[in-house]
Amino acid sequence: MKQWIALTALAVFTTGAYAQAFPGSKPVTFVVPFAAGGPTDRVARDLAEAMRKFVPGGNFVVENTAGAGGTIAATKVAKANPDGHTLLVWHIGMAATPALYRKIQYKPLEDFEYLGMINEVPMTLVGKPQLPANTYRDFENYIRANAGKLNIAHAGLGSASHICGLLWQSTLQSKDAMTTIPFGGTAPAMTALMGGQVDVMCDQTTNTTAQIEAGRIKAFAVTTAKPLSGHPVLRHYPSLQEMGLKGFDLTIWHGLYAPKGTPAAVLQTLNEGLKKALKDPEFIKKQEGLGAVVVTDKRVEPAEHKKFVAAEMTKIKAAVDAAGKYAD
Ligand code: ASP
Repeated sequence: MKQWIALTALAVFTTGAYAQAFPGSKPVTFVVPFAAGGPTDRVARDLAEAMRKFVPGGNFVVENTAGAGGTIAATKVAKANPDGHTLLVWHIGMAATPALYRKIQYKPLEDFEYLGMINEVPMTLVGKPQLPANTYRDFENYIRANAGKLNIAHAGLGSASHICGLLWQSTLQSKDAMTTIPFGGTAPAMTALMGGQVDVMCDQTTNTTAQIEAGRIKAFAVTTAKPLSGHPVLRHYPSLQEMGLKGFDLTIWHGLYAPKGTPAAVLQTLNEGLKKALKDPEFIKKQEGLGAVVVTDKRVEPAEHKKFVAAEMTKIKAAVDAAGKYAD
């Protein structure tokens, strides 16, 4: 009898200890596939701050592992210990990279546990301050007049800025593609744009809004189907579709992922924390100020987000194949 009580007590203790083991004292690292200070870093840092409030004991930190359009970071997380302490904050690149790389070392739909979608971010077509054009029409004319001479910055093959530039140039049907200049993220690319070392970039509003407002770069259009009429800074710019680029409609989304095999209880704790963070007024305010829309629909559920990513993979593959010769 005594022994039985002791065993029961041990079982209760072990279960309790297990339930409390996550997050424990070890930090939870959000691996960001791009340079610090850029759009994805911004989302990750704001989210880390919000999740600290909602996952008891959770010390969320950000680590930047830039390079190869995000694929280095994705590989790192896919191969990380599946204990919930190494997570990936990534964007549309999760769905785009299989269409752009001959060889990647992870399978987006098989090697990750999906935690949920975070936000959606419009993009802006921007230029260096020295460009003579002030409107999208002027800008198009300038591009045609300077065919072959201009360059466009992006954050690596499969990055949002790369996909945007690719689709824009193919829809524009410019015969002379611009020279692409890859960076480790659009934070360093923005520095080059402001300094006039690169001519053009298509980047998320989370990175461009403040610079547009301060007049450090020129903005010509937004990539969403409709203009962002509710935004204090971005409402001044037309959508590419309005400017005649038929069907152009590009929004970048971010999601949160864990390595495959992460225990269900840990995933649940993280997903619950994520859902609460997405309702945090402070997080929402920061994101909205930068033109981003925090996800409130069912895509915050792991299975729904995964379904969405699978559909995006098909959609982006078709778009990239159609863009064909501009796929560099
Ligand atoms: N999200 C990237 C960054 O944070 C930029 C991009 O994908 O274009 O720099």
